Amino acid sequence: MTSPKHIAIVGGGTAGWMTANLLRHRWATLNVEVTLIESADIATIGVGEGSTPFLRHFFRTLGIEERDWMPACDATFKSSIRFPGWSSVAGYESYVHPFFCEADRQLGNQFFTNACLRRRGQAADANPQDFFLAAELARQRRAPVGTDYAYHFDAGKLGAFLRSHAVGLGVRHVVDTVARVEQHENGDIAALHLRSGARIDADLFVDCSGFKGLLITETLGEPFHTYRDNLFNDRAIAIPTPLVDGEDIPCETVSTALRHGWAWQIPLTTRYGNGYVYSSDFVSDDEAERELREHLGAAAEGASARRLRMRVGCVKRHWRQNCVAIGLSQGFIEPLEATALMLIQLSVEQFIAALESGDFERHHQDTFNHRVSEMFEGVRDYVVAHYQLNTRRDTDYWRTNRANRNISARLASLLDIWDRGGDFEVELERHGAGLMYLRPSWYCLFAGMGRFPAELRATPQAVTAAVARQSLARMVREFRSHRRYLAGE
Ligand SMILES: Cc1cc2nc3c(=O)[nH]c(=O)nc-3n(C[C@H](O)[C@H](O)[C@H](O)COP(=O)(O)OP(=O)(O)OC[C@H]3O[C@@H](n4cnc5c(N)ncnc54)[C@H](O)[C@@H]3O)c2cc1C
Repeated sequence: MTSPKHIAIVGGGTAGWMTANLLRHRWATLNVEVTLIESADIATIGVGEGSTPFLRHFFRTLGIEERDWMPACDATFKSSIRFPGWSSVAGYESYVHPFFCEADRQLGNQFFTNACLRRRGQAADANPQDFFLAAELARQRRAPVGTDYAYHFDAGKLGAFLRSHAVGLGVRHVVDTVARVEQHENGDIAALHLRSGARIDADLFVDCSGFKGLLITETLGEPFHTYRDNLFNDRAIAIPTPLVDGEDIPCETVSTALRHGWAWQIPLTTRYGNGYVYSSDFVSDDEAERELREHLGAAAEGASARRLRMRVGCVKRHWRQNCVAIGLSQGFIEPLEATALMLIQLSVEQFIAALESGDFERHHQDTFNHRVSEMFEGVRDYVVAHYQLNTRRDTDYWRTNRANRNISARLASLLDIWDRGGDFEVELERHGAGLMYLRPSWYCLFAGMGRFPAELRATPQAVTAAVARQSLARMVREFRSHRRYLAGE
């Protein structure tokens, strides 16, 4: 390829520093100069503290060991996400979305069999929290090392760690604010004019400027495709709370349904990160904060709250002219499955692949844009499915979400096949990689919410939850306490 000679990245949030590291690492031998400009006056979003297992691949690519970055970022291990309160179906009031691993093969297959029996009217136990190793590790607070785990971390500290690593790789760090963007006649970006008077020329510009999209939206005018008709939440409030003294550190994210949205709880080694994601169409900011404080109880007394607005959806073209948008500038799906950093990572990887195979050719841009939009839509559908499947009856928020028919044809067909007792496997295969989430995740979501017929016949041959739990209890014996593992004991 004819690699770009100079890449300018605008933004020093997690997206900017992840991108700087990946580009500089990948093109280290090609003498590609990378400059990252970050404003001292415009804060980063400061949240984003849970990951998917993909983040392990990110650190592996850069050759960064857990022992080097985890303590620096107050990081903990994440085995799963637990969802209390989304369903009112007896026995399914809470369920787990586990990260699956090889050890799940046997019990996992029994879970799939049971879920299929149950959706066809037989009374087999089918709550995923009874069948997957990750759920038992979370219950017993054991470090999920050896499984396909993910992480929790302090967003600010992760940014600082990645900054120092990128600078070590040779990325030039400029602390200044972009005041004006100069364009060539053909629309390409020519240079960034900084508040200090400096000018940054580059042949490729990466927009990591956050929700406003300084380059992709404000400069190039790329249209934004909102997901507001699928996903109603547009606000969040974050409140940190202390860990409980002497308690073992949890290794799961908890996403509890509240009256007008859901609250996250993310355990770090030094505190909990908490927040409430809600819709301003259904509740005021003040009321939402009251509700979150009530949910958190005494632990939140005196803790200050940060209120955030979210732009949910994505730009139509993530790469346009000589500018690619990465992070919140390209799009955002509410953080229910903690997918934003994964989308950043995958977008950068796809961008590198596209550029290496075809420079700035139109065809490669189109393919890249199509693939990245597909990833966003795949994640969106999985998140929307949570709202479709909810069975809460307490507020308009939940009833309206459940009744919303603005869903993709793909999600509608998955719901239909599941409900009719049809061949769910074939339907999942038909949609293939575009789904983003694999078969076990879809089963856990549909079954975990208790999406089954009300009338069930007895089924003597299915493995019961009690038997499955006994096997899990035996399996976790060899895993160490999460707190002790993190402390290096
Ligand atoms: C409530 C909430 C919860 C979330 N939870 C998760 C989660 O659990 N997991 C997950 O993966 N993601 C999560 N995310 C998303 C995650 O926080 C972001 O994807 C991630 O932090 C990347 O943000 P960013 O770098 O794109 O933008 P930001 O952090 O907003 O950074 C923008 C940067 O651009 C700079 N900038 C802006 N304008 C200029 C200018 N004119 N000149 C120079 N610099 C400029 C700013 O100084 C800043 O450095 C969450 C997001 C929200 C809103």
